[in-house]
Amino acid sequence: MANLLWLQGGACSGNTMSFLNAEEPSACDLVTDFGINVLWHPSLGLELGENLQKMLRALTSGQLALDIFVFEGTIVNAPNGTGEWNRFAGRPMRDWVQDLSKVANFVVAIGDCATWGGIPATAPNPSESQGLQFLKRSQGGFLGKDYRSRAGLPVINVPGCPAHPDWITQIVVAVATGRAGDLALDEFQRPKTFFTSFTQTGCTRNMHFAYKVSATEFGQRKGCLFYDLGCRGPMTHSPCNRILWNRQSSKTRAGMPCMGCTEPEFPFFDLAPGTVFKTQTVMGVPKEMPAGVDKTGYVKLTVAAKAASPQWAEEDIFVV
Ligand code: SF4
Ligand code: SF4
Repeated sequence: MANLLWLQGGACSGNTMSFLNAEEPSACDLVTDFGINVLWHPSLGLELGENLQKMLRALTSGQLALDIFVFEGTIVNAPNGTGEWNRFAGRPMRDWVQDLSKVANFVVAIGDCATWGGIPATAPNPSESQGLQFLKRSQGGFLGKDYRSRAGLPVINVPGCPAHPDWITQIVVAVATGRAGDLALDEFQRPKTFFTSFTQTGCTRNMHFAYKVSATEFGQRKGCLFYDLGCRGPMTHSPCNRILWNRQSSKTRAGMPCMGCTEPEFPFFDLAPGTVFKTQTVMGVPKEMPAGVDKTGYVKLTVAAKAASPQWAEEDIFVV
């Protein structure tokens, strides 16, 4: 039986909504099949007021074991580093996080806000938000770069805005069943099993990407969204086209560009006007290349691909 506590800082609850929709395994499976004891969760917890404070104090004092501490949302430090804008159970949430992280065997950050700050930490960041162990691309964050949980691991980052339901429950199960040692983490502490391939891996528009045929409107059933609509699929590490959403589809399959939500810089360009859903170009060449591609090679390939593009690439080939 592994005790799990889930708290929420500066957040929209999107990751909670995602978690509650998990299917493989579901939130119920965590309890019935994998022996996880959910001590408290913002949407499921029963304790209130003094009872909740008592339970939290039992955890921070070590009377009650904390096996997995899940955090959703940013650490809110405003105003002036006090954290008073986000009080919880009688004190700033940041103080609870500090104390709970010291006693937790594993700490799992769910979603962009908890991993690297996400939208709340975007300039001018009025809530003085940080992620648990990163602020955007810089390692450190609230707990500091040297932080290790009692089991000796850094914060396990499961990013996304929100994270896919099954990324959340599968990582929680791996930790709860003693397989945390099998979790290889990348430089941003993301489990490699989910975050090594790209959003583009498995995208149904790859043929259009190869022939440089562009989609020019959302939902269009032909064309690739990279050339005009700002799709970040070729440079975003996510399994969104391998582990489908609602077991059915993905943004890019439905004709919506990937916004790169599993990367530390999300939201890109700090959401400046004209940068969202618009490929940034210089003289017609995208400013940001697909991962590992250089500009000269890209230009040569574009000329050849356009010349070789077959007629069907311009047609709607998806028959419903
Ligand atoms: S729509 Fe996006 S993910 Fe799909 S092939 Fe084009 S660039 Fe890649
Ligand atoms: S397709 Fe891109 S923006 Fe959408 S959830 Fe996946 S990584 Fe995030």
